[in-house]
Amino acid sequence: MKHIYLLGSTGSIGMQTLDVISKHKDEFRLIGCSLGSDDEKNKYILNTFKPEIVSLRYEKQLKNYEGLFPNVRFTWGDQGLIDVVTYEKEGVVVNALSGSAGLNPTIEAIKTKKDIALANKETLVMAGDIVNAYVKKHQVKLYPIDSEHSALWQTLDHESQSDISKIVITASGGSFRDLSRKDLENVDLNQALKHPNWSMGAKITIDSATMMNKGLEVIEAHHLFYLAYDQIETVLHKESVVHGLTYFKDGTIKASMSVSDMRIPIAYALFYPKRAVFDQSLTLSNLSFKPMDYERFPLLKLAYEVGKQGGIMPTVMNAANEAAVHLFLKKKISFLEIEDIVFKYVEIQEQIKNPTLKQIIEIDQKIQQEIYQAYEKR
Ligand code: MG
Repeated sequence: MKHIYLLGSTGSIGMQTLDVISKHKDEFRLIGCSLGSDDEKNKYILNTFKPEIVSLRYEKQLKNYEGLFPNVRFTWGDQGLIDVVTYEKEGVVVNALSGSAGLNPTIEAIKTKKDIALANKETLVMAGDIVNAYVKKHQVKLYPIDSEHSALWQTLDHESQSDISKIVITASGGSFRDLSRKDLENVDLNQALKHPNWSMGAKITIDSATMMNKGLEVIEAHHLFYLAYDQIETVLHKESVVHGLTYFKDGTIKASMSVSDMRIPIAYALFYPKRAVFDQSLTLSNLSFKPMDYERFPLLKLAYEVGKQGGIMPTVMNAANEAAVHLFLKKKISFLEIEDIVFKYVEIQEQIKNPTLKQIIEIDQKIQQEIYQAYEKR
C-alpha cells in the first residue's frame, strides 16, 4: 500500500489523481491533502478518502471543518501545505498546486525523504538546481506528472545520457493556434479558455494559448533530464497524440503516444515501475508535425533565452506571467498584454547568478505584488 499526500486536491490534476486512487484502493491510500474553497468538493474528498491530515485554504474554515470531521487533523494556509507534506508517515507527495506556491512544499517534502510526483512545473522552473541538489542529498525520487515529461521519461528510461542526441516536446498550439498575431488583438477570456484537446485548469489553459506553458516545460525538461537547451526542441502537433520524442545518436527515434487523458501520466508516476490498467485505446490516424513558429509565439522564444540565462531570470519570467494570467482571468488586461508584462519585467530585472531559495521566493512575491498593484485598479 503506497501512502499518498496530495497538494491541490480540488484542482483539475488533483481530482484526476483522486480518481486514479479511488479506482485502485488496494494500491493507494490518501494520507494527507490540501483542500480549496469549494465545500462540496472538500466534503466529498474528506468523506470518500478519509485522510489523516488536511490543510484548508483559510483559517476561517477551520472551526466548521473541525466540528464536522473530529478525527481529522486540520491545518491551513501556506504553513498548512508544509504541515501536510512533513507529516510523519512515509509516502509520495503529489504536488498538483498551481503556481509558485508549489515550490516551498516540494522542498520541505524532499527534506522528509518523501518521493515527489510533480505536476507543479513552477517548482523546477524557479529553482531547478536547488531542487535537484535536495533530491540528491536526501536520495528521493522526482517523477514528472506532465504529459510531455511523462512521455519523455518513458522514452528515456534505461537509456544512457550519452546516447541521446535531443528530445522533442510537442505542442498542440492551444486555443488560438489558427489565429494570426493580428487576430489576437480582439480575443476574449471565454475564447482563450477553450482548449482544443485537453481539459485543464484555467491558468494552464491560458499558458497554452500564449505558449508560455511550452516555455515552462522546456525549462522543466532541462532540469528533469539534465539536457542542454539546444538538445530540447519543440514542435507543433495539433492532435496531441505524440507527447514527446527522443532522438538517439544511432538514428533511432522513440515516441510516446496516448490519448489526451492526464490520468495516464498521473498513474504512470504513482505506479512506477509498474503500470496501471486503463481501458483507454487510441485509434491511430494521420498525425501532423509542423516546425515551431517563434514569431507567432514570442513567449516560447523568451523562455529559451531566459532558461539559458538561468539564475533568477526564470523566476522573474514565471512570476510576471503568473500575475499577468491572473489579471487576464479577472478581465483586467487584454490577452496580448500578458506578453507585454512578461517581456517588460524580464527586461528590467537585474540578474542574480546563483539565487538562494529565499531570494527566489522574495523576488517572485515582489514582482507579483508589483504587477497586481499596477493593473488591478483598472
Ligand atoms: Mg504539459
